[in-house]
Amino acid sequence: MSLLTIVVPCYNEEAALPLFYEEICRTMGDFENTDADVVFELLFIDDGSKDKTLEIIKSLREKDDRVHYVSFSRNFGKEAGIYAGLENSKGDYVVIMDADLQDPPSLLPEMYKALKEEGYDSAATRRVTRKGEPPVRSFFARQFYKIMNKMTDLQIMDGARDYRIMTRTMVNAVLDMKEYNRFTKGIYSWVGFNTKWFDYENRERVAGETKWNFWKLFLYSLEGFVGFSTAPLTLAALIGLVFTLLSFVMIIFIIVRTLIYGDPTSGWPSMICIIVFLAGVQLFCIGVVGQYLAKTYLETKARPIYIAREKE
Ligand code: UDP
Ligand code: MG
Repeated sequence: MSLLTIVVPCYNEEAALPLFYEEICRTMGDFENTDADVVFELLFIDDGSKDKTLEIIKSLREKDDRVHYVSFSRNFGKEAGIYAGLENSKGDYVVIMDADLQDPPSLLPEMYKALKEEGYDSAATRRVTRKGEPPVRSFFARQFYKIMNKMTDLQIMDGARDYRIMTRTMVNAVLDMKEYNRFTKGIYSWVGFNTKWFDYENRERVAGETKWNFWKLFLYSLEGFVGFSTAPLTLAALIGLVFTLLSFVMIIFIIVRTLIYGDPTSGWPSMICIIVFLAGVQLFCIGVVGQYLAKTYLETKARPIYIAREKE
């Protein structure tokens, strides 16, 4: 008998939760009937919700003892939710699934079979279309994956969702990565293992609203870069090198010109342009270094990834 833990990070999901619970019980009920070898449990992570999410989870827990939960002391973000879910899961297999039914539960039996029968360590999903998403966001998302895959040793699938099933071995490997600044997509790729990919069409969430806006996604993508690549640091050094070489050429040019034409006081505008430009480049490079320093600073504090207020 295998136990399947379904981890569901929830932040203000009062509208979606009842629908989610109904749907997942139906799908998993059918699945347990056809494959008598598996039972499932639900592990809700209440990420400091400000609405009735926790109350709904508790009432589900009262009538169904397959339901478990961890409730955070405040909102720690989805990454922390995923970590808490993996840490508190007991299953031989662990699934991460959103509460808004954007991750179709109907794929789960197939994903499970990929692990059980085909010997994969993980089955993950990606959406093949970005239908219903603002075009600007899609564009930046594509660029992000392109740059990320070029700049790092990681291969992150374009359009990869967090919806994924893993074996206990892989879960433990992910849990061993205890970094405070978490970029789970990078972590999955970093730990390795064989992953089977499932494609599906993007769909709208059943209820409630998305918690992500463009700015949040942008910051999250920086997290990815800084967390898994030191290429920006190399780039900063290279920019410095290029300008140093360029300045040698300019020095020689100025000396020669002065020797030939004397020293008429001109060139003020061009000088200001050069100063302003270089000041910009310098600040940018210091900023890049600062990003790494900030992350290092936060990591050295070794703060907990999440704080649970209650769990059951
Ligand atoms: N979520 C969370 N903590 C947060 C933000 C989101 O646990 O701070 C959960 C949310 O409840 C949902 C999942 O993460 O189950 C995905 O969030 P959302 O649907 O807003 O993201 P999208 O699907 O639009 O990428
Ligand atoms: Mg969603």
